[in-house]
Amino acid sequence: MDDQSALDRIKAPELERVLGHTWRVLDDGFVRVVDYLGSDQAIVQAARVSYGAGTKAVHEDTGLIRYLMRHRHTTPFEMCEIKLHVRVPMDTWRQWIRHRTASTNEYSTRYSIAIDQAARTDPGAWRLQSSRNRQGSAGVLPAEVGGRFTEREAELQALARNVYEERLAAGIAREQARKDLPLSTYTEAYWKIDLYNLLHFLGLRMDEHAQAEIRAYATVIGNEIVRRWCPIAWQAFKDYHLNSLTLSALEIQVIRRLSGGDRDGARRLAEEFGWLATRDGKLRRNRERAEAWRKLRDLGIDPPWPE
Ligand SMILES: Cc1cc2nc3c(=O)[nH]c(=O)nc-3n(C[C@H](O)[C@H](O)[C@H](O)COP(=O)(O)OP(=O)(O)OC[C@H]3O[C@@H](n4cnc5c(N)ncnc54)[C@H](O)[C@@H]3O)c2cc1C
Repeated sequence: MDDQSALDRIKAPELERVLGHTWRVLDDGFVRVVDYLGSDQAIVQAARVSYGAGTKAVHEDTGLIRYLMRHRHTTPFEMCEIKLHVRVPMDTWRQWIRHRTASTNEYSTRYSIAIDQAARTDPGAWRLQSSRNRQGSAGVLPAEVGGRFTEREAELQALARNVYEERLAAGIAREQARKDLPLSTYTEAYWKIDLYNLLHFLGLRMDEHAQAEIRAYATVIGNEIVRRWCPIAWQAFKDYHLNSLTLSALEIQVIRRLSGGDRDGARRLAEEFGWLATRDGKLRRNRERAEAWRKLRDLGIDPPWPE
């Protein structure tokens, strides 16, 4: 690599244009890019440093990034970093902060008065408990029923805020006065993370199993920010991870039987794997069977067992 190309600051022109732009998320949250380091070019630069080849033609860079992504050659992606300013309800932040590889600095409600804003829920946005997934939701309450819960939410948030402000007015320390603020209260943070770990975060939090609120933030970060910042890496991530399908060794055996036209054999395998156990003559729920069922359907294959 020639000395100059190693010294020039690598810029992401599409991201430069939106530095400081505010993407609104939920009713009062946001995501902003404060600063960044590197871009697709930095990934290539790092990957090529070992043999001093410098940056090649764009199509070769694309091929290299896609190769690195496919083969989980991860450290070149750590050469890119991004610093975000986010405003998030505390319950969502609680999930977000579980990602330990970021550097975080959060608004302090010990030091400052808590942000006077809590996330509100529209009458038509109260989600119902899923009967199939204990951690998930399915469908929503009718808006005419949801309206009552939206009103109660407003009452609860107003009461909690009033009690908090009464405590402050009485001279109670902010660190203690805050204890009964609801988890819907917004907080703000600076959040800095490298691209490799950010993609890991996005893989988990853009997934349909993630809660809708954090998914809303992850979707903005992925589709609006990473897409502009490292477009080649972003496309490779979508192609090889986010929208890809992983098959277990068991599923591969089943698919081999099915592609040979042996539906009975595929079903026998599923029985051997314990996917078709029954109780009182009824098929028992089995997550692995259901996951395999969905994968087969995604591949356009008719599964030889019910979901
Ligand atoms: C849909 C969903 C449901 C969840 N449900 C629950 C739940 O019910 N209860 C709950 O407590 N959590 C839950 N979580 C949180 C989850 O278990 C993880 O803590 C969170 O997603 C962070 O993932 P991570 O550890 O891979 O990521 P990060 O903390 O961002 O770490 C990235 C990677 O770095 C490595 N790493 C980081 N720290 C260490 C370490 N100390 N040791 C070894 N390797 C490390 C690991 O390879 C890790 O994958 C849920 C998450 C999701 C997405």
